[in-house]
Amino acid sequence: MQDLCCAGAGEHAHWAAAATGRNAVEPARANGRRTTRPAPRRPPRYSALALVRHGLSGKEWPRAWRDHPLGTSYDVVIVGAGVHGLAAAYYLAANHGITNVAVLDKSYLGGGGSGRSTAILRSNYLTPEGVRFYDRSMELYRTLAADLDYNVMFSRRGHLTLAHNDSSLRTMRWRAEVNKLQGVDSELIGPAEIKRLVPYLDISPDTRYPILGALYHPPGGIIRHDAVNWGYARAADVYGVQIHQGTEVTGIDVADGRVRGVRTNRGDIATPVVLNCTAGWSTLVAAMAGVRLPIQTFPLQAAVTEPVRPFLHSVVVSGTLHVYVSQTDRGELVFGASVDPFASYSTRGSLEFAEGLATHVIELMPALSKMRLLRQWSGLCDMTPDFSPIMGGTGVDGFYVDVGWGTYGFKAGPVSGEAMAECIATGRTPEIIASFGLDRFGEGRLVGEKGAAAVGH
Ligand SMILES: Cc1cc2nc3c(=O)[nH]c(=O)nc-3n(C[C@H](O)[C@H](O)[C@H](O)COP(=O)(O)OP(=O)(O)OC[C@H]3O[C@@H](n4cnc5c(N)ncnc54)[C@H](O)[C@@H]3O)c2cc1C
Repeated sequence: MQDLCCAGAGEHAHWAAAATGRNAVEPARANGRRTTRPAPRRPPRYSALALVRHGLSGKEWPRAWRDHPLGTSYDVVIVGAGVHGLAAAYYLAANHGITNVAVLDKSYLGGGGSGRSTAILRSNYLTPEGVRFYDRSMELYRTLAADLDYNVMFSRRGHLTLAHNDSSLRTMRWRAEVNKLQGVDSELIGPAEIKRLVPYLDISPDTRYPILGALYHPPGGIIRHDAVNWGYARAADVYGVQIHQGTEVTGIDVADGRVRGVRTNRGDIATPVVLNCTAGWSTLVAAMAGVRLPIQTFPLQAAVTEPVRPFLHSVVVSGTLHVYVSQTDRGELVFGASVDPFASYSTRGSLEFAEGLATHVIELMPALSKMRLLRQWSGLCDMTPDFSPIMGGTGVDGFYVDVGWGTYGFKAGPVSGEAMAECIATGRTPEIIASFGLDRFGEGRLVGEKGAAAVGH
C-alpha cells in the first residue's frame, strides 16, 4: 500500500534547501536536511505580575502576533489560519525547528469554523482509531494553557450523550466498551444518575422522547475557542512563523507531480510544501493542486442565550433531538445542532434552525422556556462519508491535507497539528493518523464515526 504521507517525501524534502536564513542563528535538522532556527522572540509572559506591572506603567501590551511583508518563498505554506493551520505551524516550529513557515488566510485569523465553534471537547468516539486520536488531543489540551502561556479556559465538565430509544442505548453501550478498552473514562448511566448530574432535565417517562440512559464521559468539557486560536498564533509568531491575513490562495503550481508554489491575491510564493487546512473550502483548494477530495460542505448553525446564573455543569447532547447545550463561564447557554440539510457555502442563520432548536431544548429542559436567544450564527463544515478526517499526503508530492473536520474538528486541533507537523518534517506518517489517509476511500477502509460524531461534536 502506498504511504501517501511519505509519497515522494524524499523529493519534496528539498524544502529545507529553500530556507532563507531569516534571523538564522542556530542550525537544526529536520527530515534529514539542514534548516535554520531563528532565535525565538521573547514576548512578556502573561502572569499576574506582568498584569500588575503593565497596569502601573500604563504601557501597551505588545501585539500577540506581528504583521510582515509577504515573502517570495517559504519552506512550508499553510493555507488556512484556523486552529488546524495555526497548530500545525506552531508544532512545525516548536517540535521540529521548521520556522520559515507562512500561514495564509483569505479572511481573518479564526474567521472560519475555528471562530464559530461551540468548542466542545471529548474523546468518547466509536472506533478505536478515533478514540486514540481524540484522546491525544485531550491530553494536549490539558496542558495547552501552560505550553502556550495563554489562558485557553479549558473547563472539564463531563459530557452526557442521551439515549431516547433502544438502538441509541445499544450504540452508547458499544461506545462505552470501546472507550474503556482504550483507557478512556466513559460509562452508561441510567435516568436517576442523569437527573443527579443535570437536575433541570425532564426525565419523566411520559415525554415524547423519554430519556432511557446516557453515555457519561467525565473528561469532556468546553474551552474558549478564540483563546486557543490566538494562543497558537502568538506562540507560532514567537518562533518566527509569519501569519498573513487577507491573503487568498488563488492557485497552486504543480509541475512533474510536485508542488512548486502558490499564487495569491498579493503575489506568488515559491514553496515545495503546501498544507491545506481550509475545512469548508478544502475541496476548492485541493482542486487547485488537481486533487479531488470526498468532501461536501454543509453549513452548521449555533446560538447563544443571554447569561444566567450557572446551573448547568455538564455538556448535554441528544442525537435523536439534534441538539446539544452547554453553559459558558459567563452564564450564557450555547446551543448547537446537526448540519443544515443541504450542501451550501452560505453562512446565514435561519428561522427554521432557531424554531427547531427552541422546540427540542424545551422538550429536554422545560424550565428554559423563558430564556431569550441573544444571537445565532453559522459556519461551514467539511463532511466526509465516514465522519472521520482526512490527513496526510495526497499523491501530489509536497501537497498535504488536514481536512474533513465536519462538525467535530475543533477538539482535534492540537493532535492533528502535532501529527501533520511530524508528517511534514520527517516524511513519515505518524501511527496516530495512519488510519485517516485519503487512500482509505479507494481501498474501502472507512473509519465509521457517524454513531459518535453526527451531532455530538
Ligand atoms: C457552529 C459550529 C459549531 C461547532 N462546534 C464544534 C464543537 O463543539 N467541537 C468541535 O470539536 N468542533 C466543532 N465545530 C467544528 C470545528 O469548528 C471545525 O471543524 C474546525 O474549527 C475546523 O478548523 P480548521 O482550522 O480546519 O478550519 P477553519 O477554522 O474553518 O479555517 C479555515 C480557514 O481557511 C481560510 N481559507 C479558505 N479558503 C482559503 C483560500 N483560498 N486562501 C486562504 N485562506 C483560505 C478561511 O478563511 C478560514 O479561516 C463546529 C463548527 C461550527 C461551524
